[in-house]
Parts: sequence; structure tokens; C-alpha cells
Amino acid sequence: MSRPLELYDTWERRLRPFAPLTPGGPVGLYTCGPTVYDYQHIGNFRTFLFEDLLKRVLRWNGHDVVHVMNITDVGHLVSDADEGEDKIEKGARRTGKTAWEVAAFYTEAFVEDAKRLGIEPPTVLCKATDHIAEQVAFIADIERNGFAYTTTDGVYFDTSKLDDYGYLARLDVAGLEAGHRVGLGEKRRATDFALWKFSPAGEARQMEWDSPWGRGFPGWHIECSAMAQKYLGDYFDIHCGGEDHIPVHHTNEIAQTEGRLANHPAVPRERRRLANFWMHGYFLLANDAKMAKSAGEFLRLASLDDRGYDPLAYRYLCLTAHYRSQLNFTWGALDAAATGLERMRQGFRALPDAGAAPDPALLDRFAGEINDDLNLPRALAVAWETMRGDLAPAVRRATLARFDEVFGLGLAAWVPKAVDAPATVTSIADARFAARMSKQWAEADRLRAELHAAGWEIEDRADGYALRRRQEKPA
Ligand SMILES: [Zn+2]
Repeated sequence: MSRPLELYDTWERRLRPFAPLTPGGPVGLYTCGPTVYDYQHIGNFRTFLFEDLLKRVLRWNGHDVVHVMNITDVGHLVSDADEGEDKIEKGARRTGKTAWEVAAFYTEAFVEDAKRLGIEPPTVLCKATDHIAEQVAFIADIERNGFAYTTTDGVYFDTSKLDDYGYLARLDVAGLEAGHRVGLGEKRRATDFALWKFSPAGEARQMEWDSPWGRGFPGWHIECSAMAQKYLGDYFDIHCGGEDHIPVHHTNEIAQTEGRLANHPAVPRERRRLANFWMHGYFLLANDAKMAKSAGEFLRLASLDDRGYDPLAYRYLCLTAHYRSQLNFTWGALDAAATGLERMRQGFRALPDAGAAPDPALLDRFAGEINDDLNLPRALAVAWETMRGDLAPAVRRATLARFDEVFGLGLAAWVPKAVDAPATVTSIADARFAARMSKQWAEADRLRAELHAAGWEIEDRADGYALRRRQEKPA
């Protein structure tokens, strides 16, 4: 019996045993998606990779997962203090496209990049602009319970009405208040936040809707509360995001749900925090600083393509650090990950696919690591031990294939890429192919040895061959 799954819950600041709220039922998982005004950088993708690994670990443990991810295509303002321009509208101005075109373009780019990183698509991918009615209804419930007030520029959540506002982040609300006595405008408290913003008078917005309070657009936080509630209910299993979401975005999602359910006699207080588990992925650092669009180092998947890296090398790199530790990105670290991935692929490919069963003891050890709050670095170490161990090759392959259901490196599907070899090498390979076709096996073997001596390996295909530079055997 392997170790049962334990996950770190930010709400309780400790590891807790995980069990679905509905015994035997699917796990409800909500993950905050991208704001689609630009490409996602590889730091954003570290979070999405963590969430993909979480899903795979849940499935390893026999749970079906209903995964909902939002696309923020309206309402995310440049400043977290509900000020500044809408990021999408700003993107539209920058590119000369419409806000809708900007959102559609970057949504597609996100979906494509995620796919190349081996990230499985969510069960539901929902756009904020498709759920305006749900958000308006949610705000109306909050207002009815007395948790909202209206100013000249919008409808705001009154955080003073909650005695535990900011608990998730352990916010020092009094301290925040003291630091923000000026510059609040009509906001009553520094921590109050916009539920609905009115379109600025005399300013043309491309995305705006009518509401009971006036024409405008929803605040950023309400979309997640409204869509999570629509697809997963008032209280579901796990809510995830990047660590930067803890003090504002997730804190406010929870406040909104508490406000909406405040007078609900059937919902106990402890089930008003939206999710049973709150989980957060730590940042990717570049040169020891947070990777952000505003910082100098903005790397996206295409930046890795430009340097010839396989996207899955980045996935492998993320497996080497626990999701609750910061990972410092360097090209040297990516090189090491690319080498590790290449060796794992070649090592796996060299093992015969003979329909063997995985080794139960190794599966158990592997489960022990992934169930320890997703300890993928140690799970990876178990995989390497398996690769280099002395089990029958077919058993090693079957065991590694099972591990790869969690790693998501696509080991079984991998084929070596054809590489450009010099003409002297391809002519030997051509001669060898001809020898094979005429069944001159001894000659074919001699030519293989010749290629080997020249530093190349050849792989036979039904209709030809593939060449690749000879690699050192894994140490
Ligand atoms: Zn969110």
C-alpha cells in the first residue's frame, strides 16, 4: 500500500491528506488562466505545468478530474489597485487590432504553447466575456447581502464587512490601511476592490456591457468566482494559481464568495472559502528576479525555439524543482535539462516493448514521492534508478512508461529527429540501406560499424533510415 496523497494547502499552511469532497466522485479543480493581452512567458507556464502535474498525480491516485480554466479577456487592469487601463484594450491600442482580435490571437497562442509543453487541455476553458450575465448576478447577490457600495467609477466590495478578510494571505489589514490613508479616491478602504467598473465618460471602450449599476465591465476577480461557481459549485476541491495570486486575486475571490453566501443558512462558515484546498506554484526567476512582462528578461516558448530547444526540455527542467520552491532559470540549467531529457528518451527507446508488467515495488516508491505533495524531483530520481537498474529491460520500459503518465514527457511517442549529416556519412548510410534491401546482412553490419566509428548511429526505418550523432551512454 503506497503512501496516501498529501497536498500543501495555503489556507492552512500545512500538508493535508487529500480526499475528494464527493467520495469516489470527480475532483473539481479550478486554475486561474492567462490574461490574453500578450504571449505567456515561461514563468507563467511554470504554473500551468505545476497544475498539469497535479492533475496527472490526481489521476494516478484514481481520481477523475473536472478541470476548469478561465481566459481573462476583459477587466484585468494594469494596476492591481483597480486603476489604469484594461490590459486587453491597451494591447489593442499597441497592435492596432480590436480588443476581441487581441484576445482571440493570444488565446490561440496560449493553447498552442500549452500543447507543445505537453499540458493537457482543461475540461472547460471559459472566457470572462462569455460569462458577463453570471458575473452580474454574482455581484447582485453580494450587493443584496450588504457587501458592496457604489462610487462614481464603479461598484466596490466592502472588505470591512468581513472579519477574516485576507486570511488566505495572512494579510495585515490594519497595516495596509495605515499605509494607504491618502490616494484612495472614493474607495473606503485600501483593500476594497472593484466588482464592476463604469466605462469612463467620453472614452470609447471596445468591451462594455449594460448592468443594473451602469454601462461598464467586470472587475478581474469576479470572473473567477462566477465561473468557478457555475462549473464547479459553491465549494469544490482544489483552486490553484501562481503565488502572486495569494494576497490580492485569490483573497478577493474568497471574499466575494463569502459575501455571496453570507446569509445562506445552509452553508457553514468553513465551506465559504470557495475551495477545500488552495494550492500555489512558486515563481520562475530569471537572474534571481521574478520574470515579468515589465522586466528585461521576457522569455516565451518561441525564445526557446529560437535557440533550438525542444519545449519538453523546459517541462523536464520544471520537473527538477519542487513547485513550492523558486526555480532560477539559466540557459545552463536548460541545457542540463535538455541533456537529461535526451538521455531518458534514448534510454527508453533502447528498451524492448515486450508487453511486460511494471515493477510493483518501484511503482510504490514512485507513488510515495508524487504523493508527498508532488515531489517530482525525487520521482525523477526514482525514474533514473529504474533506467539504470538491473531489472529485465522490458520491465524497466513498462515501469518508466507508467511513470511518464505523470511526467508527461511523451517517451513512448518519441522518435529521433533526422539530422543533417555530411555527404560522406549519408553515402555510407545509403550503401547500407541498399545492402539491407538486398539482404546482404554482413555488409549491412560492416557499414553500421563504419558509421559508428565515424561518430554516427543509424536507425532502420521501413522506408529508409534515420541518422543521429552518437551520444555517450548514460553514466
Ligand atoms: Zn482567477
